[in-house]
Amino acid sequence: MLTRLTGGTIYDPANGVDGEVRDLYVRDGRIVAPPLDGETIAHEHDLSGRVVMAGAIDIHTHIGGGKMTLARMLLPEDHAEHPVPRTRTMRSGSGYIVPSTFATGYRYAEMGYTACFEPAMMPTNARQAHMEMADTPIVDKGAYVMLGSDDFLLRLMAEQAEQAIVNDYVAWSLESAQALAIKVVNPGGISAFKFNQRALDLDEAHPYYPNVTPRAVVEVLTRAVHELGVPHPLHVHGCNLGVPGNIATTEKTVGAAGGLPLHLTHVQFHSYGTEGDRRFSSGAARIAEALNAHPNLSIDVGQLMFGQTVTASGDTMAQYRNRKSARPKKWVCMDIECDAGCGIVPFRYKHKGFVNALQWAIGLELFLLVQDPWRVFLTTDHPNGAPFATYPHLIRLLMDRSFRNDTFATIHPDAAALSTLGSIDREYSLYEIAVMTRAAPAKSLGLADRGHLGVGAAADITVYKAQRNRERMFERPEYVFKDGQIVARKGKIVNVTTGTTHVVRPEYERTIEGRLRDYMVRYQTVGIDNFPVRDEEIIAEGRGSLSIVPSERRA
Ligand SMILES: [Zn+2]
Repeated sequence: MLTRLTGGTIYDPANGVDGEVRDLYVRDGRIVAPPLDGETIAHEHDLSGRVVMAGAIDIHTHIGGGKMTLARMLLPEDHAEHPVPRTRTMRSGSGYIVPSTFATGYRYAEMGYTACFEPAMMPTNARQAHMEMADTPIVDKGAYVMLGSDDFLLRLMAEQAEQAIVNDYVAWSLESAQALAIKVVNPGGISAFKFNQRALDLDEAHPYYPNVTPRAVVEVLTRAVHELGVPHPLHVHGCNLGVPGNIATTEKTVGAAGGLPLHLTHVQFHSYGTEGDRRFSSGAARIAEALNAHPNLSIDVGQLMFGQTVTASGDTMAQYRNRKSARPKKWVCMDIECDAGCGIVPFRYKHKGFVNALQWAIGLELFLLVQDPWRVFLTTDHPNGAPFATYPHLIRLLMDRSFRNDTFATIHPDAAALSTLGSIDREYSLYEIAVMTRAAPAKSLGLADRGHLGVGAAADITVYKAQRNRERMFERPEYVFKDGQIVARKGKIVNVTTGTTHVVRPEYERTIEGRLRDYMVRYQTVGIDNFPVRDEEIIAEGRGSLSIVPSERRA
């Protein structure tokens, strides 16, 4: 059955299309070439005057795993205040800051997002994370498995194991956790926290594994990811999150990659200087310089927005430090076997608070100073900087200078005085928004058939009514197609589908399983036979599917 989407204005950066009026053809969930004469068009949608992009992709959003469950339990008020009633098509749910799984899928799809990636899945908790993502309807999903504070890796490093053995372990972790990429959080630091260390800078030795430093962890994992041919670079949440002066560490972390691809995540929280009377200043210009100097580097911003949210992070060290700022006053930190830890701390970001106001400005400076939209991705590190539902507002801040300046005029004056934001004229174009939220994340993750509208792509398509108020435009697309089916219409869910789970499966030597078997028997609660998440658990008799992203081993 052939569907024609007629006369829309297409923004498709992966194929170099910048606002051209074209027809799109969809068959069996895919975008296809224009039909030959005489072929019947079963359906037609007139999209004249409409803005058409591929479905949006969130490269970093916490939507599954134990810490999200903890965050939901910690904030019952969020769920009481934001009920999502059951409808003919939708299940009931609740929550705005940390919505329940079903509400998460609906809300993303209503905003034109068709794929979401959970960046911090614990290996031991992968099964639960996948079950939550299975309950997140419509959107495609995938997860990055967290290594770097796990005792197995730190032991390998302490005994100076060959890189090839580390690579086998990394590949085994990707496969057994059904992951798409590797994330490292406070490299080695979550483990060091368990030995009473309260900070661990890039070149500081781990208190228990003296030859292990965060730099060495980044080096060994960057190399593993590269040699295994995993498309997405090592996804790095660096040392010293939120600490004034951490910009110096962030710059040095770039050097630790040795020129190999590296992704620095929620870099807003890692871009702080110590200038000024309050010893807190913006390092955004230095990050922009680092991006210009290092073509191997990409970032996502982790924009902070004003209002109530909750931070949920694997970085127990940072979260323990943050507990004093909890609003409301409640928090939880936990240790997770020999793998890592996590911490949940609610925050209320205030535009009249000096630090929060400057954090907000630093995030926007990052977006606007980095020239290449292919290497900066739009995130709030949901829910850490703000709930993902604030994305349309963020897009307006990027696209509308006078709106941005009006908001800038309301923030704490000392913060405003330390920011260059008011002097930045740049406004993002629709094309650049399409790069940053579609084409670039798909490319970075290795998703060849997502994030674009070329022949062969999945028909994940978002259609907007052009409006001067970009927030209105982006919060309620006219149509959202997922795999060729209309799932949302004018911001309302009309059809609920199931997205696929994207994973990567690099080859490796199975001999690593012998070492892991012994280790797990001694130290873990789950043995190696039950640890891996099997394909059937995700496919679950048709309730999910797996899409294997190709990887090509380089060593
Ligand atoms: Zn995050």
